[in-house]
Amino acid sequence: MSGIEGKVVVITGASSGIGEATARLLSERGARVVLGARRTEKLESIAGAITREGGQARFRAVDVTKREDVDSFVEFAAREFGRVDVIVNNAGVMPLSPLEETKVNEWDRMIDVNIRGVLHGIAAGLPRMRAQGSGQFINMASIGAHTVSPTAAVYCATKFAVRAISEGLRQEVGGDIRVTVVSPGVTESELAESISDASAREVMRGYRQISISPYAIARAVAFAIEQPDDVDTSEIIVRPTASPY
Ligand code: NDP
Repeated sequence: MSGIEGKVVVITGASSGIGEATARLLSERGARVVLGARRTEKLESIAGAITREGGQARFRAVDVTKREDVDSFVEFAAREFGRVDVIVNNAGVMPLSPLEETKVNEWDRMIDVNIRGVLHGIAAGLPRMRAQGSGQFINMASIGAHTVSPTAAVYCATKFAVRAISEGLRQEVGGDIRVTVVSPGVTESELAESISDASAREVMRGYRQISISPYAIARAVAFAIEQPDDVDTSEIIVRPTASPY
């Protein structure tokens, strides 16, 4: 199966921002989408809107920090639609702060969601894709996977990890399975709302004044999916034209 039409695409973090836009855009282009996140009322409303517009969408609560949740989520997608063609490991959090604030719980949360969450998606999807003989992982990194800035050390570390894991996966499973890393620049979403540190929040407010629509990132995801099976778009960076970052 090539292109987007008819593909079953599983998306974590689909309750807002980039995940929501990706679900809506891919559905418009004919994909069957399965939305996961913790806020099920948001998922229900997005899946309902997609269905009313003629698309096929399902949703399920998933906390990506829990391996069994992610396994059940991917199994649910396969039960509903018979296969899983693409997993978009998109869920992420970004509670930025200077290291000397020692917000260790927030460091742990970023590691759990941004790294373990992606690994759980890979663990849940890989055996199934191997058995199908095809599949694609699209892992959401960041411009913070390419450069580090103050207050963002741990966040950037998690996104560097996403790139490292994705590249290792690509080298190991290429042949049957495509692996794509998408690195967004500043994009409109709820992401900065997880920042509890007042100074980092203030800096981020200025930094985020130049931003792009989450649909810009969704279009990059669509591009990676719609390429022929023998073309693996392994890395894409999408950023605001006017932003120096
Ligand atoms: P949002 O905050 O709008 O979306 C984050 C999503 O992740 C939400 O749907 C949230 O859903 C979900 N999520 C958070 N924790 C968990 C969890 N434990 N289990 C399941 N889902 C979870 O931000 P974005 O859309 O911007 O973020 C999407 C991705 O893009 C992230 O990986 C982020 O790091 C990356 N990114 C974003 C940039 C930006 O400027 N916006 C720039 C670079 C990268 P819920 O709370 O309902 O669980």
